[in-house]
Amino acid sequence: MKRGADLYNILIVKYGEIGVKGKNRYLFENKLIKNIKNMLKPLGEYNVYKEYGRIYVDVNDDNYEEVMEEVRKVFGIVGVCPGIKAEKDYDVLKETALKLIEQKIEEGAKTFKVESRRGDKSLPLTSQEMSIDIGGYILSNVKDRIKVDVRNPEVKVRCEYRELNTMVYTDSVPGYGGLPMGTAGKAMSLLSGGIDSPVATWMVAKRGMDIECIHFHTYPFTSERSREKVLDLARTLSRYCGPIKVHCCNILEIEKEITEKLNREETTIHSRRFMMMITQRLAEQRHCQAIVTGESIGQVASQTIYGLTCTNAVCSLPVFRPLIAMDKSDIIDIAQEIGTYDLSIVPEEDCCSVFAPKKPITKPKLERIEKSEEKLDIEALIEGAMATIETIVCEVE
Ligand code: ATP
Ligand code: MG
Repeated sequence: MKRGADLYNILIVKYGEIGVKGKNRYLFENKLIKNIKNMLKPLGEYNVYKEYGRIYVDVNDDNYEEVMEEVRKVFGIVGVCPGIKAEKDYDVLKETALKLIEQKIEEGAKTFKVESRRGDKSLPLTSQEMSIDIGGYILSNVKDRIKVDVRNPEVKVRCEYRELNTMVYTDSVPGYGGLPMGTAGKAMSLLSGGIDSPVATWMVAKRGMDIECIHFHTYPFTSERSREKVLDLARTLSRYCGPIKVHCCNILEIEKEITEKLNREETTIHSRRFMMMITQRLAEQRHCQAIVTGESIGQVASQTIYGLTCTNAVCSLPVFRPLIAMDKSDIIDIAQEIGTYDLSIVPEEDCCSVFAPKKPITKPKLERIEKSEEKLDIEALIEGAMATIETIVCEVE
């Protein structure tokens, strides 16, 4: 549907928590502007800028929906509003507000309310008087096609008379909140092909951390396709996070040793511990300050509190488990929202499932686990696995 000529020409970006960061505020805002520009790169060059303590993106009526859809995915943003910026003239402001309401009536709106802000005191009306005046002007032009409802309006028309220009805008499309990426350090995330780990990775990125991923496979026991699936998941995450490095590590030798030499029902715990040991090392090499997993209490045998105690024991970096207290159905909701779910449910073998025991232990004892690992040359196994690491940069195609 084509709108009235040249209705929207700007997006107003609303951000939440970064507003409270005191003197760091401008650093966060600048990061946010940079992240918005990067997000929009595949669509072209856009003018993204700060004015009156807000962030704006110049758009036009033909592309604003597409641009808004990208901008709202940038972490740190709580909402994006399409708006109309016009010359500094009170009559123009009223005319623009009317144009916007006409559009909303066409879209089916039945009630509205005007909220105004007088940013330039040379205007003789107060903000309150502006709202009444503009509301009256609209009503006298639309006849009874729309009514005022100050308590619960379907459309809130925000009118601003400012030092340099006027601005009219309405509803915001929600963003994901969080903090701008790159403002909270870097984490190494264990990415499998499952439903959980992409969601966990996304959640930590949303809190402003840069992300690198590590993926363990047992090629040729696991296929090339199962690796491609993980890289596809990383590409989906990169729509939010920008390019992501995925370090693919072959742990076939480790799995073989564990299966041959250690207790059958404890093999999953041992391989999870090796994964964490390797991740810990790589994370340090890559200057990460934290590790991320998609674990959730009790979800599988290795994620009982006893299992988690055993796998946690080999890490000195903090291990973030954002899904720890979430139910699977809630995790699936997020996976669907962010677009990883359909990829995750494609059946592919996982390195753990290939070697998984039929009856995994649910109450492993750390001491016993550590004792059995003495049968292995842990150092050599870790070094051998790390030597296989191949790094692939995943980005939006
Ligand atoms: P997911 O759905 O993310 O695969 P899961 O419920 O299957 O998780 P596990 O297989 O026990 O659970 O794995 C727990 C966590 O360990 C995963 O969320 C992930 O962070 C990490 N992990 C498991 N397998 C791998 C792997 N092959 N490569 C990298 N990380 C892995
Ligand atoms: Mg898994």
